[in-house]
Amino acid sequence: MRLFSPSVIAIACLSAGSLFTAQLAVAANAEVPQPEVATGAANAEAAKIDAVDTSADSSALPATEAAPEAAVTATPTRANTFVNDAILPPSITWHGASESLLLSTDNEWATPFEQSNGTESPSYDDTITWLDLLAAETTKLQKVSLGKSPQGRDIWMYVASSEGINESARLKQNTKPTILVQAGIHAGEIDGKDAGMMLLRDIVKGDKSDLLEKANLLFVPMFSVDAHERSGEFNRVNQRGPVNMGWRTNANNLNLNRDYAKADTLEMQHMLRAINVWQPDLYIDVHVTDGIDYQYDITFGYNLAQGLSPASFRWLENSYRPAVEAALSAQGHIPGPLIFAVDNSDITKGMSLWNPSPRFSNGYGDARHLPTILIENHSLKPFKQRVLGTYVMLEQTLKTVGDQATKLKSAIQEDKYRASPLITLTWKSAPLAKGWDFKGIDYKLEQSSISGTEVVRWTGEPKLYPNLPVLAETVPDIKVTRPSAYYIPAQWTQVIDRLNLHGIRMTRLSKPTELKLQQYSLSNPVFNTKAFEGRLTVKADSTLAKLTTTLPAGTVKISTDQPLGDLAILLLEPQSPDSLLQWGFFNPIFTRTEYIEDYAVEPLAAKMLKEEPKLQAEFNKALENPEFAADPEARLRWFYERSPYYDNQYLKYPVYRSR
Ligand SMILES: [Zn+2]
Repeated sequence: MRLFSPSVIAIACLSAGSLFTAQLAVAANAEVPQPEVATGAANAEAAKIDAVDTSADSSALPATEAAPEAAVTATPTRANTFVNDAILPPSITWHGASESLLLSTDNEWATPFEQSNGTESPSYDDTITWLDLLAAETTKLQKVSLGKSPQGRDIWMYVASSEGINESARLKQNTKPTILVQAGIHAGEIDGKDAGMMLLRDIVKGDKSDLLEKANLLFVPMFSVDAHERSGEFNRVNQRGPVNMGWRTNANNLNLNRDYAKADTLEMQHMLRAINVWQPDLYIDVHVTDGIDYQYDITFGYNLAQGLSPASFRWLENSYRPAVEAALSAQGHIPGPLIFAVDNSDITKGMSLWNPSPRFSNGYGDARHLPTILIENHSLKPFKQRVLGTYVMLEQTLKTVGDQATKLKSAIQEDKYRASPLITLTWKSAPLAKGWDFKGIDYKLEQSSISGTEVVRWTGEPKLYPNLPVLAETVPDIKVTRPSAYYIPAQWTQVIDRLNLHGIRMTRLSKPTELKLQQYSLSNPVFNTKAFEGRLTVKADSTLAKLTTTLPAGTVKISTDQPLGDLAILLLEPQSPDSLLQWGFFNPIFTRTEYIEDYAVEPLAAKMLKEEPKLQAEFNKALENPEFAADPEARLRWFYERSPYYDNQYLKYPVYRSR
């Protein structure tokens, strides 16, 4: 029996911020009795039997007539279960029509996933080797590199089109909608890769080539390629397979799904360039989520109706979702919206829906008006079930997008040119009018001698929770008016480079220009007490004041009257959680760099009081504050700040807004 570490904290794939702080703590030890699960135990047993049954092909051991002992041990055996099964809630036996998509393990074109009977996912090299063999069979599949990873691996993208296109300019000419499917942004959550390999195989070698008649597919089998090769059995404790899985963060320990806005990683920089060059009409980001147990196997979502792309939301909600959910249901899967429990140990508190900011793929897609779907397969469902569900979803996506190309493209255009005069930067939650009939799993709370508190024991028994409350981020909190343009002094090169990388159009002033502008003054900066994603993030209060000033030649002007105008606002407004200011790109402005000695400020103050009698009254007023009156430094500073010697750029946000 394998020994497990005594305590393991489950971190949900998307856990971030206060909404998702409640995480399930699982305590387990090989010496501790496993949870009592009356009916669940039966399920677990059934699952084991299931695994043995369905793996009959791959195990193919000569367990027969007196096979020599040596021969048996020399034949590699496939795992039927996963190392963490012993500490996870009961596995629920699943069969569905989508199993018929699987080729037999010995079929020449079975993917490595199929060859392993749905338990394994191939390495980087094996994946690319297999896809290249497939591409050699057809002109419809072309390979391009998006760029090299920090460890020097190519991030490959396979371009699937009926015309065999291998460059973006030609793809635009074929006028079909283009879908970008990205697997493994979190490399351990790799379902999209194995599903995409099967689907491409069926397009090239099977009877599904007509899927490319109305749509193009861009397929990135592994996005976080270095993390994909940090492979092991213990990388995703809450996830049922594959046997070996990659790591969550890249080789620099950065989370690519927090990097869309700030774009610090090479991987993300390559992806943003690819999005700008290839201009997909739909972006699919495939994950596996942790969190509570429930019946749904394939969940997916996108930003809410209140977000920055309402027309795309309506298309996703009213056209895309029904078609995909119907296909999944018909194939034996249980699709659902994204699921985040308000309290992981009390389902009756309900679920939360979230309107993410552009550090996340779906929030980024919303901000740049690229309809973006976050797929979150449920980690407790076995790998095979999850991959098959993803296949069904991707196939139906090609059909639905192909059939509805005009509607989708016009929704995108509507969002791109909406130019809302008010932009919401942060959201508050409110209960939705209608609850959710939630297809959950029953659970018990038991006292744990290990944690000293109650622990959730999922029973494996399906249970409907009718009309569960849903809290959704639908209420605007901080809003800003849309300026017609921003002006950024040329010296903020990293900021300008990032905006450029996002594809935001910009011009430069060709000569010094006097402009009527607004500028933020910042105060009370609060830096995060620890590094987050490699950065020292900061929040500050801000007040806006009018000024007329002459900006030098070379100053960058960013008009908000462009398709990426909303994204520019989210990156440049100081109160936006994903502004480059909050990510720390402007941290130097928070340091005061010039000082005055006390022996100089004291006579300066006396001189100022003499020359400006009005100042005495103001100073007297300030002295009414006993704290101020008792602070000699503050009293001297009061005069310094009002003198011409003071740094007039200190705590001034250097990005101007046009009036
Ligand atoms: Zn993830």
